[in-house]
Amino acid sequence: MSVSAISVWENCLAFIEDNIQPQAFKTWFLPIKPVKLTDKSLSIQVPSKFFYEWLEEHYVKLLKVALTRELGEGAKLVYVIKMENTYGNREPFTEKIPSSNRGQMGPQEMDVPIKSKSPELKNPFVIPGIRNIKIESQLNPNYNFDNFLEGDSNRLARSAGLAVANKPGGTSFNPLLIFGGVGLGKTHLAHAIGVEIKDKYPERTVLYISAEKFTQQYIESVKKNTRNDFIHFYQLIDVLIIDDVQFLSGKSGTQDVFFHIFNHLHQNGKQVILTSDKAPVDMQDIEQRLLSRFKWGLSAELQSPDFETRISILKNKLYRDGVEMPEEIIDYVAKHIKSNIRELEGAIISLIAQSSFNKKEVTLDLAQQVVEKFVKNTKREVSIDYIQKVVSDYFEMDVATLQSKTRKRHIVQARQLAMFFAKKYTKASLASIGSQIGKRDHATVLHACKTVDNLAETDKQFRKYIEDLTKKFS
Ligand code: ADP
Ligand code: MG
Repeated sequence: MSVSAISVWENCLAFIEDNIQPQAFKTWFLPIKPVKLTDKSLSIQVPSKFFYEWLEEHYVKLLKVALTRELGEGAKLVYVIKMENTYGNREPFTEKIPSSNRGQMGPQEMDVPIKSKSPELKNPFVIPGIRNIKIESQLNPNYNFDNFLEGDSNRLARSAGLAVANKPGGTSFNPLLIFGGVGLGKTHLAHAIGVEIKDKYPERTVLYISAEKFTQQYIESVKKNTRNDFIHFYQLIDVLIIDDVQFLSGKSGTQDVFFHIFNHLHQNGKQVILTSDKAPVDMQDIEQRLLSRFKWGLSAELQSPDFETRISILKNKLYRDGVEMPEEIIDYVAKHIKSNIRELEGAIISLIAQSSFNKKEVTLDLAQQVVEKFVKNTKREVSIDYIQKVVSDYFEMDVATLQSKTRKRHIVQARQLAMFFAKKYTKASLASIGSQIGKRDHATVLHACKTVDNLAETDKQFRKYIEDLTKKFS
């Protein structure tokens, strides 16, 4: 490494530091190492492809100004991407940046790979011997790609999953975020990716963990004063799969620690796979910096399966269980259970069980009964109409009375309770609740909710109403 490269870079750094936030400077510039200066081009080494992209996107102008000050017009910057090995002795990964890239400072060049053994690149976190500790993957081998049937609803997520499994950490799908509603296959697909990676790359450390368990472990580690060990453990993983990240909502300590683990893994070319019941834009109480990282890779949605996919999932299940069932029954089940694969499977399992226990044929009639149970169960989400009906029944009045303009106290209270429960159990806006419950405005609904909260604290009888009604809705 030439002295002049170092001193040129030091001067650039001084200039850059004066022009950006200290935190950004620390994150994005301190990790850079100057490697070489030839004529007017300075080569700098960055820890990951992502790092390079980030610099290009956010700091390219600043870099240009800084470097031009040092080297004059025509100054060029060459990035050398080097992923440090956390452990193991794989060769360092050096990558050529395509010259078509949007760099504005002239073409980036392929640079000589830097030898891996340079001592300053040692990872301080590696505990000697830790490599020998085997980390159990916690994967469920029954959730694999073979039995994750493909359909329009999951094609993108499934193929992204396969791509990641073929080249963990080596695609731009990092992190891979799989999102979608309950029972649509997020957990199954997440396991399938892990199982496939373990199969292809047995030496890689894969870990599946639910966000809930991750949180518990973290809390434990704080209690036991082993937070650092917790972090170091996770930094050793090659493929980290975290299920249901929406669980991290509002848990800022866990989010913070995950942020650090994520950055470390990502910078070292390790694969991160996440699942969530919501798209990143809809996640609430997740810190912005984490959300922005979720968006770095690919977010792929699992949608409700279409009719054909539902049929093939059912047939596959029956085939695996060695059970035959008339087409019309399969058709019936697939037609009536639409939005949840877990329930689809539940219904068919229930049919199989009924027929084998009772030694009777599965008739359309039986199928109807079973499906009804499942469909009723899915109808759990309550509607505002339903809430008004239940509240009116409870107070022995009809819905029209509940909605009327009267100021009689017990009617007002019933109406306020209906508004309160509508707010609590539906996603409707205050305005829409108001318009559905007797054409009131949003301020009235807001007032109703506050009144109910107050009365719940001060009035015992009223509290009983709330408890009784709550039971009816859950
Ligand atoms: P989620 O985690 O999204 O709530 P799961 O992964 O637990 O959903 O899936 C629910 C059930 O549906 C599981 O038994 C799973 O095996 C099954 N399933 C989901 N998607 C598929 C699919 N594409 N092919 C076959 N089975 C599926
Ligand atoms: Mg799940």
